[in-house]
Amino acid sequence: MPGFELFGDLERKEVNDVLDNGVIMRYGFDGMRKGHWKAKELEKELQNTFQTKHVQLVSSGTAAVSVALASAGVGAGDEVIMPTFTFVASFEAIMMLGAIPVLADIDDTLGLNAKAIEKAITPKTKAIMVVQMCGSMANMDAIQNVANKHNLLVVEDACQAIGGTYKGKPLGSIGDLGCFSFDFVKTITCGEGGAVITDNEQYYINADHYSDHGHDHIGNDRGVETHPFLGYNFRISELHAAVGLAQAKRLPEFLDIQKRNFKVLRDALSEIPEVTFRTVPEGGEESCAFLNFFLPDSETATEVSEAFKEEGVDACWNYYNNNWHYIRKWEHLKELKSLFPISKEVKEGLKYLESKTFEISDHYIARNISCLIKLSWTESEVIARAEKMADVIKRVLTK
Ligand SMILES: *Cc1c(COP(=O)(O)O)cnc(C)c1O
Repeated sequence: MPGFELFGDLERKEVNDVLDNGVIMRYGFDGMRKGHWKAKELEKELQNTFQTKHVQLVSSGTAAVSVALASAGVGAGDEVIMPTFTFVASFEAIMMLGAIPVLADIDDTLGLNAKAIEKAITPKTKAIMVVQMCGSMANMDAIQNVANKHNLLVVEDACQAIGGTYKGKPLGSIGDLGCFSFDFVKTITCGEGGAVITDNEQYYINADHYSDHGHDHIGNDRGVETHPFLGYNFRISELHAAVGLAQAKRLPEFLDIQKRNFKVLRDALSEIPEVTFRTVPEGGEESCAFLNFFLPDSETATEVSEAFKEEGVDACWNYYNNNWHYIRKWEHLKELKSLFPISKEVKEGLKYLESKTFEISDHYIARNISCLIKLSWTESEVIARAEKMADVIKRVLTK
């Protein structure tokens, strides 16, 4: 990760196909486009990649999460359980629908904990949003059991875990609906883009219409379309889809490089007894987009993180003080700073955020360091990096 590191001839060819006929819109203009349907082709390609019946491309990963929830009927006043460690997009996507994000603790998988979910359930709970952070996954069997017991929808945000699997199934394809982002820094990039995947035909039809003003997409050249229900515009453009199509075709190549680089770093750090790794649930295989490890305490993690910066080990983060990915520093959300009025029901539903603390999540996140695995490193760069990281950690530990 990220796919932009390896842009090449295939991306150029796909984009030029679109520019040559001039149709940069994904729907309609059937004659003009001379048989080029990049968005449709990418949807087909992703059906294969993610082993799913239906794929609906949308304009971003955030749009994908919101469209997925809307397609399954989640809306005003419904509660959606989400993890404390994620990207702010999870919170935003729920708020966009007038629904209420209910945060629950993660565990040593760095994903939602099934017991924490169960504690957070109320009569208003409609869905569990599992976020597969940093290339790995939550314990999906345990979560699915809770969902079945309480009749809740499972939406999987696999934006950071493209290519990871759980018991042989691609991450994103396990819940009722899965969501992906193809933004600039993700494993496959379109520039901006995302996808909703599902095996449920009705959810798919809903996502298809809802993400394009409610158009039903029946007939050719948009001539006879009707609007079964209200929709908005979360469309992807044909140009973005063209870039994504090239990248999706190259995913196996990207994953091989990621896995190779990941292994070199992990092996080097495994030799330090104080370093432990996130738990990968039984039957899970990471996408290797990130290497996540724990240090014995938060002070050591902070020191290692700072020493990495000083030594030029880039793209490693201790998320405890990060205001994009962890609840602790989401002041604008905890204080509900909104440009426009928010409903009384949602305000009431979010009151808990003023005072609630998440000690269990803190325990894991404060000790964690997460390092991005780049695709563009040469073999000698990875080896040098592994040695440097191990040296820095040992130095901090023996201080
Ligand atoms: C990137 C990301 C998103 C949002 O995707 P965008 O395409 O940037 O809107 C959502 N969830 C997670 C976990 C992400 O990493």
